[in-house]
Amino acid sequence: MDSENVFQHLLQIIERYHENLTQGRYVAYHEPEALYNLLQLDEQTEGDWNKLFEWVEKYLTYAVKTGNPAYVNRMWAGANLPSIIGEIVTAVSNTSACTFETAPVSTLMEQYMLREMLALVRFEDGVGQMTTGSSNANMIVMMAARNVACEKGKSCGLFGQSRLCAFVNRDAHYSMDRAAAILGIGTDNLIKIATDSHGRMDLVDLEQQIVRVKEEGAIPFFVAATAGTTVRGAYDAIEPMLALREQYGFWLHVDGAWGGAAILSDTLRSRYLSHVEDADSFTLDFHKMLGTALMCNVVLFNKRPSILQQICSAGDESYIFRKGVGGELRDLGSQSLQCGRKVDALKWFLDWKFYGRKGLAERVEEYLQLCMYAEERIHAEAELEMVVPRESFNVCFRYKAPPGESAGDFNIRLRNRMQQKERGLVGTGYVDGQLALRLLVTNFNVGKPELDTFFENILLTGREIIEA
Ligand SMILES: *Cc1c(COP(=O)(O)O)cnc(C)c1O
Repeated sequence: MDSENVFQHLLQIIERYHENLTQGRYVAYHEPEALYNLLQLDEQTEGDWNKLFEWVEKYLTYAVKTGNPAYVNRMWAGANLPSIIGEIVTAVSNTSACTFETAPVSTLMEQYMLREMLALVRFEDGVGQMTTGSSNANMIVMMAARNVACEKGKSCGLFGQSRLCAFVNRDAHYSMDRAAAILGIGTDNLIKIATDSHGRMDLVDLEQQIVRVKEEGAIPFFVAATAGTTVRGAYDAIEPMLALREQYGFWLHVDGAWGGAAILSDTLRSRYLSHVEDADSFTLDFHKMLGTALMCNVVLFNKRPSILQQICSAGDESYIFRKGVGGELRDLGSQSLQCGRKVDALKWFLDWKFYGRKGLAERVEEYLQLCMYAEERIHAEAELEMVVPRESFNVCFRYKAPPGESAGDFNIRLRNRMQQKERGLVGTGYVDGQLALRLLVTNFNVGKPELDTFFENILLTGREIIEA
């Protein structure tokens, strides 16, 4: 094979992989050592295209087929075809979405999509950015809030500054802890708020904690509502937090990494995200429920059009950034945490143009129906039980352990056996200290028949363990 045939060959491989994605096993399971031996990574193959494609084939043979319906492990699964096309074109044209001069089309596409998203969320006079994911989005937002609370923070640091305190649902994503650590807030000053029986932040506890830190002389500068907690899928109530913001003057962020996808559907928006348009910031991962290829995130700021420039910008007069003829900002990179930026806008734009808001809204609504169906199935099976009632999209359940074994240990064994037998990969999480199998429907290849197969495999595996 010469380099001219490379694309033809590659496309054949990709096509075959994609055709077989939903059939057969989701993985060819091997322990790390066995896999290492199979891969023969030490082999010398310089300059040999045929050998190179053997590596590609090996990669695909042993990789986890995340688009397979048996893969219900994480908040993302598979990817939309338009965005896969976008990824391929992005790779072929390899540039950095840092400056207009190196990435003219992607800059305009990103700006276009940001305007679409601001309008969708109904943030007026806002600003947005694509980031590498909600972990970083949460950190950027916390940094913005910190520098608003502490005006000289960007230039002088936090020296001599009153203690700053942030507040989150105790089930909030761990990226909040990391953000507090990186930003000099300190994880002890990230206050975890108790939850009510639905897994939502307890507002009485929130206010008491705010009052307590104020009495101690600290500044309550940041509250993050989680729109869809990672394990339970609980949505913090935004409206009562707006009243508290009025009183205490903090920044109110909504972390919609997972459940923010409800914003696409008017029905689900009013049910789960009521008053989000009054928050100070909002983040949403398009690479989770909405199926855009990893990574695809947007963070949006309300009513503060120059906040990113104030808090993030650096290098404005340096070697790299150029203003437009009228002095306008042309380079998205000057406001980003990164210098090199992978082009994520093309795949995002292609998905948006192909499915449209309506198509994506229907998908999210359909996922919710399937989650309801899954919950019904669990109630109907004598061997299964919900660990907590379903709040939204997350289905937290378990197999009832036989007498003498803890439910946690049994379900870990069940989960591992499912994986080793290549029957499926399901996530786990802890709800009030109890282990739950966390089923997430976030794959458009999953419908009722696929859920039926999933539960049949759970029941089969549980019975095997009990009978062994
Ligand atoms: C997944 C998730 C995150 C992290 O998002 P990444 O894009 O993986 O960095 C943050 N918050 C919540 C609520 C999440 O579910």
